[in-house]
Amino acid sequence: MNITTEYVQVDCIKCHALFGLPKTTDNHLRQTHDGFWCPTCGYSMAYLGKTAAEKALAEAARLKDELRHTNDILSWTEAERATSERSARAHKGRANRLKRLIAEGKCPCCGETFEDVYQHMVHEHPKFVEDNADQVAEAAK
Ligand SMILES: [Zn+2]
Ligand SMILES: [Zn+2]
Repeated sequence: MNITTEYVQVDCIKCHALFGLPKTTDNHLRQTHDGFWCPTCGYSMAYLGKTAAEKALAEAARLKDELRHTNDILSWTEAERATSERSARAHKGRANRLKRLIAEGKCPCCGETFEDVYQHMVHEHPKFVEDNADQVAEAAK
């Protein structure tokens, strides 16, 4: 049987002496980030670089964060859309009520009935007519 142990050459970061570590030990040290010592100067070192597994974990965490952020934006946009739809509906409902009142000859401001409610409003409630120019003008047609 021919057993060969593969060695990994390590360059001491302190004294730059070269020494060998069995490949299995080297792998183990890379996974665990455990310290090892230079046989020449006794300086302690460790593989601090991230292993592939650790890199994958960090990447997964980053993606998860990104996804959460995207979801936040999505639900915010959805809420925004719902709010603006609600206010558009409310606006439309108010405009319709206004038109109906004016069509019936009723002043939407004072509730009185006039033969020419539009003229009444222009004279009595110019500010209201100005603020609701679109609806009032349309209703007065
Ligand atoms: Zn050394
Ligand atoms: Zn009025």
